[in-house]
Amino acid sequence: MFCIDIERTPRSRLNETDFSSLEFGAVYSDHMLVADYMEGQWQKPVITPFRHISMSPATSVLHYGQAVFEGMKAFKAENGDILIFRPDMHFKRMNASCRRLCMPEITHDLFLEGLTELIKLDKDWIPSEHGCSLYIRPFMYASDEFIGVKPSKTYKFIIFTSPVSGYYKGTVKVIVETEYVRAAEGGIGFAKTGGNYAASLLPAKLAYEKGYHQLLWTDSKEHKYFEESGTMNLMFIINDTIITPPLSSSILAGVTRDSIITLAKDMGINVEERKISVDEIHEALERGILQDAFGTGTAATITHISAINIKGKEYQLPEVSRRKISNQLNQTLVDIKLGNIPDKYAWNYRIKV
Ligand SMILES: *Cc1c(COP(=O)(O)O)cnc(C)c1O
Repeated sequence: MFCIDIERTPRSRLNETDFSSLEFGAVYSDHMLVADYMEGQWQKPVITPFRHISMSPATSVLHYGQAVFEGMKAFKAENGDILIFRPDMHFKRMNASCRRLCMPEITHDLFLEGLTELIKLDKDWIPSEHGCSLYIRPFMYASDEFIGVKPSKTYKFIIFTSPVSGYYKGTVKVIVETEYVRAAEGGIGFAKTGGNYAASLLPAKLAYEKGYHQLLWTDSKEHKYFEESGTMNLMFIINDTIITPPLSSSILAGVTRDSIITLAKDMGINVEERKISVDEIHEALERGILQDAFGTGTAATITHISAINIKGKEYQLPEVSRRKISNQLNQTLVDIKLGNIPDKYAWNYRIKV
């Protein structure tokens, strides 16, 4: 335990925030946590009002992109306790991203105690309406004032939060991408870092112009095997079996992916983590045996795919109401996150208020 200095905001924005119409990612809670890395170690963190950070135009991250982030959620349970979903897994993943980007690892105390203090202070920002939550954004960036190419010596770690409403629960139409790649084997695809997002924006825009909400990424060598769906992990169901690409250096190890696989196995559903070729799914679509396809991620848990454009032809998938397996998995996971059913895997980190 270390003590964190808190500078409270002189004027909370809580009362002027309209919780009935929250645009995702556009509203921020009153405070943020900030810690500096210098001389080889993390300095004492502070909590300050949410405010701008000023930096030199020569700041390293602006030029060479040494930056990583996480995205997780806190929920308000029936009894008022705060539940954060699997923060330890996010912590470990953030450090895995840091190692790849040649950045210092964060300490467990800084991450978890920093998070706890911040969430306690801004607990009234957690919406309690159905489907709403507090989105938590920890991130770290290279803060050296230096434009030579080398790993920065100083870094900033920040956590801020954002209340989010019950996200749009629609389905998505997707198209198989066979020209661009999001990430290549040996690259930084498994790290949660802005560069991967930057690489995905143009192909996503081009797909959107063709009438598709999202891409199905394929491997960088042959465009033969599926990787992810947009910024979500990808799962198919054939023969009541869930099939999902195996983790690799070009795939982000989603916390939702892991949770869905665990729940599915526990429910007696077959799960195969293996390479899935575009041809295999094409054939399943032709034969009408693809029961389901969906993306998994913290933002929406499960996002159903309604149609897939594969090799220039668009195939419709079964009605969402008929997708028993994924609907049940989704509901179970949401119920665990909200504390409505027993948390048998100890996934929730509970803050008593
Ligand atoms: C964050 C992310 C995911 C989903 O991960 P969760 O931990 O489930 O939110 C999947 N793919 C990419 C590229 C991501 O950045």
